[in-house]
Amino acid sequence: ILPQGQYLPMSDGTKTVYFSYEEIEGIVVKELFNIEKEDTEEDVKEGQDKDESEQVTEPDKIKIDKTKPMVALTFDDGPSAHTDRLLDIFERHSGHGTFFVVGNIIDNRKETVKRIVSDGHEIAGHSWNHRQLTNLSDQDIKDQIMSTRAKIYELTGYDAKLMRPPYGAYNDRVRSVAKNLSVSLINWSVDTLDWKNRDAETVYKCIMKEADDGAIVLCHDLHKTTVDAMEKVIPALIDKGYQLVTVSELIRAKGEKISAGKVYFGY
Ligand code: ZN
Repeated sequence: ILPQGQYLPMSDGTKTVYFSYEEIEGIVVKELFNIEKEDTEEDVKEGQDKDESEQVTEPDKIKIDKTKPMVALTFDDGPSAHTDRLLDIFERHSGHGTFFVVGNIIDNRKETVKRIVSDGHEIAGHSWNHRQLTNLSDQDIKDQIMSTRAKIYELTGYDAKLMRPPYGAYNDRVRSVAKNLSVSLINWSVDTLDWKNRDAETVYKCIMKEADDGAIVLCHDLHKTTVDAMEKVIPALIDKGYQLVTVSELIRAKGEKISAGKVYFGY
């Protein structure tokens, strides 16, 4: 806690300031925050203590066979009233999904957010209040990403370094801000248009037709019809021999590093 009025006029009130770990390294002790080491390219190169840190931040990992096909199902705009049913479906079958949550609705469904992580799924950011990042200032982009990341960390202890920009909209500025925050941007290769069609059968048919090895599938767990579709999609993909993996698992299984500021679309 900094002394009030010493750095800014008292009339400015309370401000939230975010620092990257690099910025505060050497100034504050890492242990104070119980922060795991960054998963940057440099760390991957170092490679020594990486396995150890992964065990802490990514629970319940299922062994992935890199030689067999895999799909990453991703869900935006939650957590919603339908998310728990989706988690139940995953539990009944196998595999994991990636949940891109909107920061300012997390407090409405804290238990669901905790369960996403404890069930072994990946949680990631989808901005604080679903703003199109390309229309914002650098500072506002940073706030959209970091306030959501801080909220997820506060609840789950997981540092979400993947984010999906709302509407998939990004430009060089968004990428550069993300890079400085050690954040990677995740778009998709299969768009179910589930928000538009609101029809379980259409979503099911789209995924079964278009999803192949390495696909990142865009869905929204905000809609009941999408979760209805998953009742069929999840067992059907498993029947076809697909492993249902998280986005981080997919990128690594395809032999790539998770690089800050990079945009991923699937394989
Ligand atoms: Zn969205």
